[in-house]
Amino acid sequence: MAESMEILAPDAAGIACAAAHLRAGRLIAFPTETVYGLGADARDGTAVAAIYAAKGRPSFNPLIVHVADTDMAKRYGQWSDLAEVLASAFWPGPLTLVLPLADGHGLSSLVTAGLPSVALRVPAHATARALLSAFDGPVAAPSANPSGRISPTTAAHVVNGLEGRIAGVVDDGPCSVGLESTIVGLTGDAPVLLRAGGLPVEAIEAALGMPLAQPDDAKITAPGQLTSHYAPAGQVRLNAEQAEGNEVLLGFGNVDCDLNLSPSGDLTEAAARLFDCLHQLDAMARPIAVTRIPERGLGVAINDRLRRAAAPRDP
Ligand code: AMP
Ligand code: MG
Repeated sequence: MAESMEILAPDAAGIACAAAHLRAGRLIAFPTETVYGLGADARDGTAVAAIYAAKGRPSFNPLIVHVADTDMAKRYGQWSDLAEVLASAFWPGPLTLVLPLADGHGLSSLVTAGLPSVALRVPAHATARALLSAFDGPVAAPSANPSGRISPTTAAHVVNGLEGRIAGVVDDGPCSVGLESTIVGLTGDAPVLLRAGGLPVEAIEAALGMPLAQPDDAKITAPGQLTSHYAPAGQVRLNAEQAEGNEVLLGFGNVDCDLNLSPSGDLTEAAARLFDCLHQLDAMARPIAVTRIPERGLGVAINDRLRRAAAPRDP
């Protein structure tokens, strides 16, 4: 990881350099109309895992994928008439659409936290759009601050929080400190307000010509689509020494097991593979035992997700 971070100008040379870092799987902070985002190639699981490592986030939640335009969004999310209405009315801007994943999307499962949906947004900030166009690919980007600290609205905030942990920041002055994006879910029968934000609900409802459902109503119409706590069907047992009975063993490091998160004991690799492994185990429809994973660095977020998978289920 970078010893010191590059401060890049928002001009053609700086943008080209930032895009090259992203292509190399490195992390770049950049301004959006809300706050500075911490970007990584959303197709590269190791790069996405590095976002969590740099932020020191203790849990995995799905990240918003930023794209340059609607055409790029269609590569990753299944497009629909409702998506077209909202995208043409409000993109670029502070609206995030959650869509079913498109066939052949190629996104890392860590970006979607194993969900069959993806959150997509075309930001309005000129520098963000220039970077997305130059990179010509999807960029996962939560706020560029260490977990638990205030969101950064200047490049100096980013440097203070993440120096030594990321490749660089594109400095384009202060963000306008808007609200977070409004998130609308389009994975079920009816459009759902998943998070209130910078774009007023009334404007969205006027464009759609119908009211937005609330997440609680939506859970009934789209079971399993909205929970971010993806869990496999089989019972999960943690800190296992070995498989018992019919269990399939998920391992970490140099252990004898059915599926290994990282044979070399690399927590970044394990984080990048976690949701793919859970899906594979799910398909086996057997109880799952997991060997011990160290409770440090990305291991904290991995263990958090495994504990949720192991927790008693809602009936
Ligand atoms: P932010 O903290 O602004 O980066 O927004 C991330 C939020 O977007 C998550 O906490 C979720 O609420 C939402 N989100 C991202 N991806 C998805 C998804 N695939 N399905 C549902 N909600 C999502
Ligand atoms: Mg944040």
